[in-house]
Amino acid sequence: MAPLPEPPAESPLPTLATAAEEPDAPARWRDRDLDALRTRGLTIPVEGIPAGQIADSFLAARDGARVHNAVDIMARKGTPVLSADDGTVLKVGTNTLGGNVIWAFDPSHRWVYYYAHLDHFRPGIREGQALSRGDVIGYVGTTGNAPKDAPHLHFQLLRLIEGKHYSEGAPINPVPLFVGTAVSH
Ligand SMILES: [Zn+2]
Repeated sequence: MAPLPEPPAESPLPTLATAAEEPDAPARWRDRDLDALRTRGLTIPVEGIPAGQIADSFLAARDGARVHNAVDIMARKGTPVLSADDGTVLKVGTNTLGGNVIWAFDPSHRWVYYYAHLDHFRPGIREGQALSRGDVIGYVGTTGNAPKDAPHLHFQLLRLIEGKHYSEGAPINPVPLFVGTAVSH
């Protein structure tokens, strides 16, 4: 499929109300959303890890039948985990599989980033806090179901689906969107 033309830089983001006026518009805008994300790219969310060192495990099997739908970035325990994009902290919490996790919105609130298996959070990080690309948000660990001898960041990119919880968004492979090498702090 041919790439869709970019909207002019000064045009506002389309709203859902406008989308409803054109029956075929939502799909078009979803693609435009992905084009916009691809254009700005994602910062590799683990400090010091070059893109070439990240194995694309998006379609790998997990626990038998489950598809991974995420990427695992291997790193030493305690390596800073960086915000992949500008945005806002949506949730700081803990769950069985992910251990210590952070959910964050992108600036347009169309995309959600999920960071899991954190050893610990950046002290003071809280829900609603603004994030800049490259901000330290936590540290690589093995919490949740991560093997204790294989610390890594489980990173997921989700496209929000209207009317669904943010954790039920559609997973998109983030690996082709990574740009450059994470900077050192
Ligand atoms: Zn994973």
